[in-house]
Amino acid sequence: MPVLLPQLSDDELLATIDRLNTAYRAGTPEVDDDVYDHVYLQALRERHPDHPLLWNVEPEPVGAFGAPHRHVSAMLSTEKAYTSDEVGAWMRRVQSAAAEINIPDADIWVRITAKLDGLAGYWDGAVLATRGDGAFGQDVTRIVSRGVQLDRAVMGPGELVIQQAYFETAIAEQYDMAHARNFMVGLVGADTVKPHHSEALAAGVCRFVPYSTLESREAGLAELPECYAQMAAELCAASEYATDGAVVEVLNVELRKAMGATSHHHRWMLALKTVGEVAQTRVESVTLQVGRTGRITPVLEVAAVELSGATIRRCTAHTARHIERLGLGAGALITLVRSGSVIPKLVSVDERSTAPVDLGTCPCCGAGTVWDNDYLVCPNVEGCSAQASARLEHFFLRLGVKGFGPKLCEQLSQAGALDPIAILEMSVADMGRCGVSAGIAENLLSAIAQRKQEIVRDTDAIAAVGVRHLGRGDSRKILEQHRWQDLAGLDATAIAAIPGFGEHTARMIAPHLPAVCDTLSALVGLGFNIEATVRPSDIAGSNISGKKIVFTGTMPLGRAQMEQQARALGATVQSSVSAATDILVVGDKAGSKKAKAEQLGVQILPLDEYRSLIAGPTGTAPV
Ligand SMILES: [Zn+2]
Repeated sequence: MPVLLPQLSDDELLATIDRLNTAYRAGTPEVDDDVYDHVYLQALRERHPDHPLLWNVEPEPVGAFGAPHRHVSAMLSTEKAYTSDEVGAWMRRVQSAAAEINIPDADIWVRITAKLDGLAGYWDGAVLATRGDGAFGQDVTRIVSRGVQLDRAVMGPGELVIQQAYFETAIAEQYDMAHARNFMVGLVGADTVKPHHSEALAAGVCRFVPYSTLESREAGLAELPECYAQMAAELCAASEYATDGAVVEVLNVELRKAMGATSHHHRWMLALKTVGEVAQTRVESVTLQVGRTGRITPVLEVAAVELSGATIRRCTAHTARHIERLGLGAGALITLVRSGSVIPKLVSVDERSTAPVDLGTCPCCGAGTVWDNDYLVCPNVEGCSAQASARLEHFFLRLGVKGFGPKLCEQLSQAGALDPIAILEMSVADMGRCGVSAGIAENLLSAIAQRKQEIVRDTDAIAAVGVRHLGRGDSRKILEQHRWQDLAGLDATAIAAIPGFGEHTARMIAPHLPAVCDTLSALVGLGFNIEATVRPSDIAGSNISGKKIVFTGTMPLGRAQMEQQARALGATVQSSVSAATDILVVGDKAGSKKAKAEQLGVQILPLDEYRSLIAGPTGTAPV
């Protein structure tokens, strides 16, 4: 943990920033990005606003992996503004440059877009390169063939990003990754595609987004002070991808030319960043939360403090080991940082607590705890109701059945309803006996009925069961070799024979597979549609392998599902019909795409004909 900043001399501050930067580039960050930006760089900005470190193109957080590639035009960084004073100063520079070429204030227009928080790059029609030092980037075109989505027709600068919703549900927790950008950095720099990469790539959620295609708002420059915060907030809220502020740029071409660029940034462009606020507060108590696997997470309950417009009363302490090492507990004085709408983070412990926290027993069931590296665990798997409740919540979340929140799951588990399959079979009256009101029970039953109308991927169903050491990547590897119906018959030797499995993991997983198989069979018995993972042998025999396909109109199972299935069967899914398109699949209410396909002579298939095409005779659709 870093010491308090005001105590650092300038040299120490610079040395610290240098060390944090090195660790960041090496892929082993010591502090969170927000803490780096809003605490350390902000301190430097306050002390030495002109320090060169603030004005270089920031180093890329990736090692050397691709061939150097010269950009067609230099990719600059963006000047950043944290306060309305800084925005005002930039506006005055724009206005005086405009005055010199006789553009009146009222004719200066700006465009605002969300600032995507990924990895900057440039697509020149043949090569996709990272920004690098601005003049030379690294050639990362290989990630396009690996499955990163890119529109070849739109050239120019943009950002490599992963869909935030996917990142949060499928990556963050399972792979213990805090930031979507770290995922992208890992994907770009990886020599071989890791399981969590291939899942995200198969889901089509990793993209190169050209800045020119971003949703934008336009405004007169003079209106900027009143409207930029609101516009930026709306654009960021509407973004599918993680954002860290907004970008404002002058639209007048002549004015852009007149203003030009420094070696660091275009003078006609400004990044609007929210300032991270830092505050000191006292810890009042520590709450220990028990998770599904028995892991105990400490949460600091703090004296209420205002940070970036919100009242903060709690903050995670990450691991129980932190409690011990840092002397966290009632009375400890701590510093927190918060930027934008991000959750507050612990920066430093400024005074240790003198009241030790009892880490020896589970706060829920009273069982003696054990350490698993830095984590504290309650080993009472069967008897700890906090774990049972968290397991239920996890099950319904992963299965995709809505409505089973923490309170309800606690209520059910305390009433003795521990088996999720039995819960899925409950009537309104059964739920009533567990204390669930009729109105809520009816909503739950209709959410269950709704989910039965949709497709549940077998990997999601297995994730719902929640076997330790069996993440979605691993279950996918198994399911590419064996059908889920056959899992019960696999022993450790059979698992270890699957590429990517060690003997140790195989031994941990194998004993749980019969239960996994039983649960999936029970789900099918209840009417859930479990979709099998496509096996390589399926793709080899696919009728649509290598075909370019466009889907249009509404589809009963949802278009995203259809597209994913087509990709899994080796097809390329396009968003619009062109002469290169092989097949247009039409659902209900097909619109202009159908007319265009007719015009271009592209094969048009109604849904039922498409389904029989992928189902056979050589094709084998996973149904
Ligand atoms: Zn317990």
